[in-house]
Amino acid sequence: MRRQLVFSFILVPLIALGSPSGTATEVGKHPSFPGNGGFSRGLVSVTFDDGWVSQYVNAHPVLRETDIPATYYITSGCVDADPACMTHEQIRTLEDQGDEIGSHSQTHPHMPTLSAAERNVELADSRTTLRRMFGPTVAANFAAPFGEYDDLTIGAAKRYYGSQRTTDSGFNTKAGFNRYRLVGQNVLAHTPSDLVRGWIESAKANGYWLILVYHEVGENRNGGVFHIDTATFRDQMLAIRNSGLAAVTVAQGLEESTFQLIGSDRQPPQ
Ligand SMILES: [Zn+2]
Repeated sequence: MRRQLVFSFILVPLIALGSPSGTATEVGKHPSFPGNGGFSRGLVSVTFDDGWVSQYVNAHPVLRETDIPATYYITSGCVDADPACMTHEQIRTLEDQGDEIGSHSQTHPHMPTLSAAERNVELADSRTTLRRMFGPTVAANFAAPFGEYDDLTIGAAKRYYGSQRTTDSGFNTKAGFNRYRLVGQNVLAHTPSDLVRGWIESAKANGYWLILVYHEVGENRNGGVFHIDTATFRDQMLAIRNSGLAAVTVAQGLEESTFQLIGSDRQPPQ
């Protein structure tokens, strides 16, 4: 069982590579002027998929140092079941410190290949498992394994979660907002930090909500594509901090976006 879980995670880089995260040229195409579909201010959310222990060991200290909250989409069946994944004590520490715990399914399947019953079990069981471990406020939001979803997956996710974050590349804008198709920017082994800085600047200039998608952080022994070293991660977190762009969890980003989408000028507390 353990081997199988690890193996299914290793497949992530191979399968999800189909949509590159954009290039510096593409970032330059975003004009920087108000009214370009932006919110009243830019936001950035740092998100992690799968629940790797390297996120706790290597990324979490950097996030505390830079005072940036994060959203961890946890594959609930891996918690306490595989040494490559965080334990429930580690996840509880994150939650206690203000990070958000989201769901990444129970067993990391390819959602579009499942029957309706299997899909519901994955979504419901993951939420149940995470809430049993960490209480009723966690698992409000979902990210599909491998970034794979279809209309049926979205329909099922709506029954259990308040949003779905995809791995489709882009910025979340007021004009094109869809909480069940939140877009992100994948930060991969080969993603230059200058490109990440460009995304941060574009979000700030245009009032976009930038969602960064990370997987493993730390020493990259296997040359995995979905893996960046700790120093690079730290550079990117310092870039966020130095930009003045507001860093929020996905739950906080949804709250702030929703206020603006319903036409209210009220801002949630910082
Ligand atoms: Zn995953």
